[in-house]
Amino acid sequence: MNFQDFKLNAQLVNAITDMGWSEPTEIQKKAIPLVLNGQDVIGIAQTGTGKTAAYMLPLLRKLNYAQIDQPRALILAPTKELIVQVKEQVEELTTYTDLRCTALYGGVGAKAQMQEIEAGIDIIIATPGRFMDLYLKGAIPVKQIKTMVLDEADRLMDMGFMPQIRKILEVVPVKRQNLLFSATFPEKVEELAGEFLDFPTRIEVTPQATAATTIEQLAYAVENERTKLNLLVHLLKDEALNKVIVFTNSKKTADSIAKHLDRKVEGEFRVVHSNKGQNSRINAVREFEEGLIRVLVATNVSARGIDIADVTHVVNFELPFAYEEYVHRIGRTGRAFKKGVAISFTNMAEKYHLKKIEEVIQGKIERVPIPEAVEIIKTGRGEQIEIERELDKIKRRENPDFKGAFHEKKRKFSTKETKSKKNKNRKRR
Ligand code: AMP
Repeated sequence: MNFQDFKLNAQLVNAITDMGWSEPTEIQKKAIPLVLNGQDVIGIAQTGTGKTAAYMLPLLRKLNYAQIDQPRALILAPTKELIVQVKEQVEELTTYTDLRCTALYGGVGAKAQMQEIEAGIDIIIATPGRFMDLYLKGAIPVKQIKTMVLDEADRLMDMGFMPQIRKILEVVPVKRQNLLFSATFPEKVEELAGEFLDFPTRIEVTPQATAATTIEQLAYAVENERTKLNLLVHLLKDEALNKVIVFTNSKKTADSIAKHLDRKVEGEFRVVHSNKGQNSRINAVREFEEGLIRVLVATNVSARGIDIADVTHVVNFELPFAYEEYVHRIGRTGRAFKKGVAISFTNMAEKYHLKKIEEVIQGKIERVPIPEAVEIIKTGRGEQIEIERELDKIKRRENPDFKGAFHEKKRKFSTKETKSKKNKNRKRR
């Protein structure tokens, strides 16, 4: 099957050819005919499967060319980065048409965005928050919106956008086509789908299929953060790691990696997290994409929506708290037919999480020993306690009666605390 087999037009097919896409991805094969047919669709597909074009190509086909000045399609997405990314893809795909598209997100002034809409627009890609802000200012005519897309619906829910989405659904025309794309399908997304879609067709591309075919998954057992830093520096000596995203759970870890790389590794790297300004984040991602920098260190949240092709390696410096996040993260490598490697560093507690992740992805992650050249450092007291606490939490989750070592310490501590509080109260009286 190739792109000519869909009822797209020559303008779109030419743009696809320019982009060097030779055949549609699995989700595109499934979604494009349904969307062209006018159906509501739920697409379960992670980033990296080609899901953006899966809804965008038929959408562009239907919009065809700029006709009126009011927006006819609305795409809601959770983060600025994803929005910028989707817009870039629209711009490439619309090279041979006159369709106009604008991106609305917070953190920058609203004036330019309002002027762009005023000048006439066909497609709006927006965060629910900024869309609602501008709508309430009277800046967005909504009466012509005939297609609505929720992209990364699971993340929209996680980020608490449900109230704004509900408000938007109240103001857009009832008669419209709805598309919902999500990497995972937890209950809250199902609920949203129930409110948002009419008799949808559900299509799915399984993460294990993409993971198994294009991503090699490895894990190292590493006791603590300092040893993880040594291992990272060691791995980066290999030139095969030439476009690497390192994921952390916290800004603090991201910053400490940055400090370490600064001292120990030649070459450019950047850190993106929510304390960095928006421009700095977008620039870092752009430089990384263009190959000017080799390593991008990113926290979960900031990395969401970053769509960069040809990432050679994803390093989970820390395993994500939500297991589905693992699938999102490693989806940044092995994109659209390219091979990639996902490497996870796991301390004692994370080893347990790794097993759970294997259940979620229904696949095996290969355990590899730490190379001898890596200096192993003794775990500090503070970190040891943190790991033990995490292990206790895990065990307690499995067995609510379990009373771990840390639990005991904590109890003693809290009795003392209560005592001192009581004393204080007594003094006050
Ligand atoms: P997405 O899942 O939409 O984030 O897309 C992942 C990456 O795959 C993007 O960089 C797209 O440009 C690329 N892509 C999408 N469709 C195709 C295709 N049919 N062939 C090759 N690359 C594609």
